[in-house]
Parts: sequence; structure tokens; C-alpha cells
Amino acid sequence: MQVWLKEPLAAGEKIKLSVNYSFIIPEYGTDRTGRLKTRNGIIYEVAQWFPRMAVYDDIQGWNTMPYVGAGEFYLEYGDIDFSVTAPASIIVVGSGELLNPQECYTEEQMKRWEAARNSDKTVIIKSEKEAKDKKTRPQVGNITWKFSMQNTRDVAWAASEAFVQDAARIILPSGKKCMAVSVYPAESITKDGWQRSTEFVKASIEHYSKKWFEYPYSTATNVAGIVAGMEYPGIVFCSYYSSGSSLWSVTDHELGHTWFPMIVGSNERKYAWMDEGLNSFINEFSTDEFNKGEFKDKGFFGDTNSPFMVQYSFSDDADGLNAIPEVIQENNLDVSAYSKPAQMLTALREVVLGHERFDAAFSEYIRRWAYKHPTPWDFFHTIENVSGEDLSWFWRAWVFNTWKLDIAVSSVEYKEEKASKGALVTIENLEKMPMPVTVKVKETNGKQYTVDLPVEIWQRGSFWTFSVPSTTEIKEVIIDPENKLPDFNRDNNEWKKKAF
Ligand SMILES: [Zn+2]
Repeated sequence: MQVWLKEPLAAGEKIKLSVNYSFIIPEYGTDRTGRLKTRNGIIYEVAQWFPRMAVYDDIQGWNTMPYVGAGEFYLEYGDIDFSVTAPASIIVVGSGELLNPQECYTEEQMKRWEAARNSDKTVIIKSEKEAKDKKTRPQVGNITWKFSMQNTRDVAWAASEAFVQDAARIILPSGKKCMAVSVYPAESITKDGWQRSTEFVKASIEHYSKKWFEYPYSTATNVAGIVAGMEYPGIVFCSYYSSGSSLWSVTDHELGHTWFPMIVGSNERKYAWMDEGLNSFINEFSTDEFNKGEFKDKGFFGDTNSPFMVQYSFSDDADGLNAIPEVIQENNLDVSAYSKPAQMLTALREVVLGHERFDAAFSEYIRRWAYKHPTPWDFFHTIENVSGEDLSWFWRAWVFNTWKLDIAVSSVEYKEEKASKGALVTIENLEKMPMPVTVKVKETNGKQYTVDLPVEIWQRGSFWTFSVPSTTEIKEVIIDPENKLPDFNRDNNEWKKKAF
């Protein structure tokens, strides 16, 4: 909708718009909003539920690209107050801070909230047994739940009389505390089921806050319902039938979106990789750390450098990362938005910049662009400025093209044809992506060398020859011995001395 003003609005002037609207909550709103029938009642998950203003930015002016589905959201920051009025039997959870808890919970439940506020272990606010008992809710007709959230792109909420509810405190690096909250139906209490959700929420938020940027909101709520996995500021919707590693990874992923795109407000309509990809990348660290590695390698995408993942990410019909979600082939969205950008950042950290420089640059990107609207170029420039390195070759291969990497050993020769005089090893880049290369060389006398070759070896062509100070015959040459490169064909990475 466009609103044409009779008079232009001067700088600093305000305008108030009232919009009357209503709609019926769909049963299944493309996995982002909906309702689920459970044993003890319906769970409503409500999102994209109020008219929002298009972003006016200094790159494009008004961003009018419509919401179609695959591309998500591009939203402006602001303070949002909202309220939900529902029968007293219903529990409502929402983005931001609940302003009137005393009106919404019983005295007994308020005592439990106080206990949760001081507990690292999950405290039950409303138990499974109490789910059906009307006496465990305030004895009034309707309750109006009032929420307020500052500096946010969006708000969402959920409501149900079937909710079991629990909570624990989250301790942030600054010493500030906030709350981890979960609501779920009785059906979700299974082996390693939703009774562990609050533990997951707390661990995720504490991890990301410590590693990258402190969580800015007062609560983080996980809702079990029909939506399989969707993120909103301060509240996420995850599948009610998830448990164990799948519940961990969906909870951790959706909460990871707090940082991308809720804090760093990139344009999801255009650049899915900037939110899904950056988020998938940080999920790996969180998963490795959680409960001493309980779900290690069972994260959102598992090991992104596994041969399977490399074949998947660099397939011949891949779409570019920068293509808008609506034009990416449906089967390729996982790769372009999630796994390939995560692989890209892993390669940048492990192979190109190293942990120290990468982490400093990545943290600075979040700090510089928190509550702002970075473009891909703002990301590239921040990483290059802070790391102190021109990475145009890297973005060109990974973001702007769908180039593959395939390095092979092409020959081993001895100087003056004598192994005792040293060897010349030649490697070849059979595809178009340039990357630094580590090569391991083993001699028959047991000596071995690791040679780190910078990306500049590919500046003038696709072959590179380097010398090895061998004194006996070379037994083996291995490219990328630690499996850090997304090499498309690993069969040609090893050269072995022929057995005569
Ligand atoms: Zn996501």
C-alpha cells in the first residue's frame, strides 16, 4: 500500500497513520505462522501480523520488493508496543518484555518466575499436570498481555491453553541477566524433548553473547508448534515434534538469527546468504561447545567440508549466492543461502585469514552494522579493512561466481634427476577458484615437509612449481592434508611413488 501525502513531510516532522485490519490466523502460513491442534488445545503462532513500513535506505531509497515467500524480510528498527487480549486460560508469550506479569499469572506462578530469575536450572512455571487445570490461571474473564520491545525490526507472539511453560536465567558477559523461556504442549515431552528447550535457549544465547555480541533483549522464548523453524526478535517458533539433536539445532539456528538479521539488519529479500549463511556459520561453534559437544557434528549442516557437502555446494547447476531468493532454483536455496556461505566463511577463517584476524573482523562487522542495513559490499569492506587484506579474489570466486576448486598434483621431478639434490613439485588448479594451498611431502627416509603456498601462486596461471629440499626419493605428496579446502575432486590430491 502506498500513502500519498498532500504535503511533503519535513525533516524531523512526524506523521501518525492508523490502519484498520483483521485476518484469520491461517492453519499453515508457509511455515512462518499458523495453528496446531494439540491434546489440550490449539497453539497459535502469530507472525507477519501487522502492516509494516518499507525500509527507506541510502542505497535504494524505498525498498519496495514485495514479500513473496522465499525471500524473507527487510525491516526498519523501532520501538514497538503491542497487546494481546485472550481468555484467562490462555498463556501468551511475545517478543520483548511482558509489562504486566502480575495481571497475567497467579501468585504461585509469579513465585516460580522469581525462582527462575535466579536459577541456571530450568524452573517449571506451568506444569504438564496443570495444563488442563483452570485453577492454575487467574480467575478472570479475559487478560490483556502487554508487551514492549525497543530497537527491534519486528515482533511476533504465540498463545495457547495447552502450553506447559518453563524458564531459567541467562547470564550475559556484561553481568546483565535475561530470561530463557519455553512453551510447549504435553505431546512435546519425549526423550530429550522440549523439557530441555530452556537449557538449549540459555546455552545458545550465552554462547553467541560471549563469542560475538551481547544479546540485547530481556527474554528469549522458544515456542513449540506447527512451524518447523522460524525466527523473530526475542521469540522463535520450532517444531513441536523435534527432540534431541534436531531440537538443539533448530533452536540454536533460529536463536542465532538474533545476530543475523535481527541485530545486523541486512536485506533478506535480496541477500539470503547474509542472514542464513552467516547464521549457519556461527551455529557450528555453538553446537561444538554445547554440553561438551553433546551434538557435535550434528549441527544444522554437519561437516560442511565433507565430500558430500562439497559436491552438493559446487554442483554444475548451482545458483550464485547473490541471486535473490525468488530466482534461485528451489532445490538450490539450501546451498546458496545456508551451506555454501557457511563453507565460505569457514574457508576464510581456516585457510585465508586464520582465527585471530577472522574473528576480529567478523565481530567488528556485527559491531559496526548493529541496527543498521549493511549491503554485501559493507560486509566485504569491513572484513578487508579489519583483516588488512584485499580479498576481492575470494568474493569473486565464492559470491559472484559459482566457480569450483580442484587442485591436483601434476608432477614430481628431481633436480639433475637425482633425489639427493632436491625435488620440484608442480601442482595445478584444474578449475577457476583460487585458494591458498597446503602441501605435505613425505620422503622415503621418513622426513616430511608441510609447505604453505599463498593464493598469489595462481596470479599468473594455473600451474605452480615449488622446490622441496629432499635428500631421498619422495614417497608421497598430499594436497590439503587436513581437508580444509572444498576441493571438488580429492582423487587427484595425492601423488604416490610408483612401486616397481
Ligand atoms: Zn535460518
